[in-house]
Amino acid sequence: MKRLINYIKTFSLWDLLVGLQLTGRYFFRNKVTIQYPEEKTPTSPRFRGIHALRRYPNGEERCIACKLCEAVCPALAITIEAEPRIDGSRRTTLYEVDLFKCVYCGFCEESCPVDSIVLTSFADYHVENRGENILTKEKLLAIGDKYEPLIAADRTEDARYR
Ligand code: SF4
Ligand code: SF4
Repeated sequence: MKRLINYIKTFSLWDLLVGLQLTGRYFFRNKVTIQYPEEKTPTSPRFRGIHALRRYPNGEERCIACKLCEAVCPALAITIEAEPRIDGSRRTTLYEVDLFKCVYCGFCEESCPVDSIVLTSFADYHVENRGENILTKEKLLAIGDKYEPLIAADRTEDARYR
């Protein structure tokens, strides 16, 4: 009897019909997939993406080279070198973030007294060549310059969740 049932199932393509039943059930449901990168899912205002260094509206770097972010980083991902300028102000001569070491904890951002180093809401980045995992000061400032309006808006939004 069991063999007969198996024969009938084989010739009626039973397993295929069972599979199609599942397909048919989901065919009319709301789609959960999106067409990335044209479409994007919403991100939390507290999402931590790529880092950026910010400037003041007059173009001056915010960072005062206090090295708090470097000290607090649990992954030792930040490297800073600094020296005083001619006018006596202290600024970094080297500021690097190693993306391979970073665990995106956000401690650097929280420790910064002048709101200089931030983690943006951008996650669409990748590296192709050796060394591109190091975000130099120039790259960090360029990211900050490019996305400053969005970074400022994100931080206003973020404040509501603190
Ligand atoms: S997010 Fe965390 S791990 Fe990454 S650089 Fe900042 S402090 Fe270090
Ligand atoms: S980014 Fe902020 S915490 Fe880090 S050295 Fe500059 S001022 Fe200090």
